[in-house]
Amino acid sequence: MIEQYIAKSIDCACGKVHKSRVEEIIIEHDVIHNGMINYLKKEGFSRLTVVCDKNGYRIAGREVCEMLDAEGISYKLHMFQKDVVAPDEHSIGNLAMGMDLDCDLILTVGSGTVNDICRYVSAVAGKPFCTLGIAPSMDGYISSGSALIYNNLKLTFETHTPKAVFFDPKILAEAPRDMIAAGVGDLLGKINCLTDWNLSHIINDEWRCDFIVNIVDAAIQKTVAARDGIDTGDNDAVAMLLEALLLSGVCMDYAGNSRPASGCEHHLSHFWEMRYLLEGREAILHGTKVGIGTIIALKGYAYIASLDPDFDRIAKMDRMPFDEWETKVRRAFLSASDEVVDLEKKSGKNSVEKLLPRLEIIRAKWPEIKALAANTTKPELVKSILTQLDAPTMPHEIGVEREMAREAILYAKEIRNRYTVLQLLWDLGELENFADMIINEYYG
Ligand SMILES: [Zn+2]
Ligand SMILES: [Zn+2]
Repeated sequence: MIEQYIAKSIDCACGKVHKSRVEEIIIEHDVIHNGMINYLKKEGFSRLTVVCDKNGYRIAGREVCEMLDAEGISYKLHMFQKDVVAPDEHSIGNLAMGMDLDCDLILTVGSGTVNDICRYVSAVAGKPFCTLGIAPSMDGYISSGSALIYNNLKLTFETHTPKAVFFDPKILAEAPRDMIAAGVGDLLGKINCLTDWNLSHIINDEWRCDFIVNIVDAAIQKTVAARDGIDTGDNDAVAMLLEALLLSGVCMDYAGNSRPASGCEHHLSHFWEMRYLLEGREAILHGTKVGIGTIIALKGYAYIASLDPDFDRIAKMDRMPFDEWETKVRRAFLSASDEVVDLEKKSGKNSVEKLLPRLEIIRAKWPEIKALAANTTKPELVKSILTQLDAPTMPHEIGVEREMAREAILYAKEIRNRYTVLQLLWDLGELENFADMIINEYYG
């Protein structure tokens, strides 16, 4: 199913030409001995650096090395020695120093973190890379962005896409349950992404593509339909989840940015991730946080659907002066706050000059906005699927304290200049009320 979307250009009715940069995606039984080795031979790669962590070696790395030995393809194995590998300067340097500098391909065996490290190092070294993915835990396998920690900040570095990615459904289905559930969380987040995108299209006339929306929507529907199979570890159902995640990656490539796959549920996740990092706490899986953020975001739409705003009163409301906003943002974002403050100075998304004309549009289009909010998927569906998979659904279940949860709802929207339901709530003067409602519900 996914093959039809890659390695070609699509002249779209939206006016853009959509293109995916990944050349090959192979999902098949025993892929190491079939599609993967055939691909390596076909492309003539003869000197590899194989990269994995200890876990990846146990799951598939050893088998890859045995296969390369049997096929007479030379390689250098680089295995990270730490039990938990962080995507940071140390790991980047460790691979750069440990790789074969004359290799013609970096072959990654792993999931999120090891991929991000290899994506970056291969780009810097000017080498192509391919990935054997071992868990359906996130949608970034074919992305060109490398999410890395640099000077204690998590940043996305634009690098390059893998030439090819390989997956074995059996390996995927044997991934730890929390990683599979995280993949489901990342995928269900797309429900809110599409609604946020639609919202911004209505209010800001932001470019939007039906073709992309339909692909992402179909991926969501298939995942929801496969929930029982994913729950029981059925190979086909888990492969379907992986394919849905990959399609979401293809759609980011098509759009040229992450709009189809990242809305305010991701901003909430990024906020918690940043705070955990700065406070030296153990990282939580990306998709786990996104799942929790999705439920909050969809509650935001339910809240919007219940409103009957008095726009004259809203337009006259006192808004927080910039200085006061900056103090609060600096308290919430700690040493990461410079970027956030700079973004607001540049974008002015919270300025009265930008707010008032936007409010007029919201007033004029209120019936359309309210219908969008009322018709989007209910948070209860996402909650029930995540609960079925034993995944957390509320911030305190991953250790987020009351105040950090509240700050995320109030300030996560400052991470990007991207219109979402959290900005709409702020525009309507309702964000604090919404935050109070959620915090009281979750924390009592
Ligand atoms: Zn299009
Ligand atoms: Zn994601």
